[in-house]
Amino acid sequence: MSEKIPAKMSGMKLPGGAKVQPVTCDVPKPGPGQVLLKMKAASLCGSDLKYIYFEHTDKTGGARYDDVIAGHEPSGQVVAVGDKVDDFREGDRVVVYHIQGCGYCDECRKGFYINCQQPERRAYGWQRDGALAEYMVADANTCIHLPDFLTYEDGAMIACGFGTAYQGLLRANVSGNDRVLVMGLGPVGQAALILAKALGAQTIGVDISEERMEMARTIGADEVLPGDDSVIENIMKLTGGKGVEVAVDCSGSSIGRHRCLEAARMWGNVVFLGEQGTVTFEPSPLLLHKNLTLHGSWVTSVGNMEKLVELLDRKKIHPSQIITHRFPLEETDKAFEVFATGRTGKVCINHEME
Ligand SMILES: [Zn+2]
Ligand SMILES: [Zn+2]
Repeated sequence: MSEKIPAKMSGMKLPGGAKVQPVTCDVPKPGPGQVLLKMKAASLCGSDLKYIYFEHTDKTGGARYDDVIAGHEPSGQVVAVGDKVDDFREGDRVVVYHIQGCGYCDECRKGFYINCQQPERRAYGWQRDGALAEYMVADANTCIHLPDFLTYEDGAMIACGFGTAYQGLLRANVSGNDRVLVMGLGPVGQAALILAKALGAQTIGVDISEERMEMARTIGADEVLPGDDSVIENIMKLTGGKGVEVAVDCSGSSIGRHRCLEAARMWGNVVFLGEQGTVTFEPSPLLLHKNLTLHGSWVTSVGNMEKLVELLDRKKIHPSQIITHRFPLEETDKAFEVFATGRTGKVCINHEME
């Protein structure tokens, strides 16, 4: 590839206080085992808002934010390759699994770099420079080839949100036998509806926002219900009084989680994907006597993300259908302002926009 790589680039940092800070810095050079990506798309995540944008809420744990270029949902094109990289070359289109681990602990060996507990663990856009820049260095073992059918915007959706939703459905072993309730229709909830359907399930989406209910109808949810006081009764009506085989909470709210336990049928599976908050429930009627399996699920593995890319390609599904707002890199501040209203679908920085 003959493209000339400039010496300097612009990037965006999140200093807190709902500010986006543009910076100019050197274009990084890929070391051994690394590639340089020209960024093409990078989406914003609920976790960017919850842990970084307003305030840096966690200074010690996995959510710690160092003084780095933000953005952990990267998709781009390889423009330079470091030593000891065999499986990527200039011109390749990739999606980046957004965390690198130590590489040798049990979880890293399984590809769940997200769960790595070693100090070497670094997430793009959290503890190492991320996607909200013109270029980004990525470790080749966190890159996944993007098939021709999938766009860079699709790649950005897969890098975090669709991966997270897919893993939650894998935990519950979702198939065509199931009706899948998705509680909370933010971007991860929308992704869960699309993927549950792709796996053959019937889907029911629930939210309190009219905008998000409308989005769920547009992406093809079989049923969409308002999250009001009669929602459990309505779910029971739709399921012959038995409840759903699988309930996935993407709301992170105590009421949403409780309703998932209520709505699940005997021997059903409940998955908690939504972050933060609390929940209190009576285990005897809601868990034990229903023989439920309750799963916690966090992000996914590199291997499962690769499987997801294959599934989307085979089923010809564009995850970018959940994007409602697009901005060029230099308008990242506007993108965050709109996203922070909580009324959007996915908000995506498209680096090819002027
Ligand atoms: Zn994310
Ligand atoms: Zn590790």
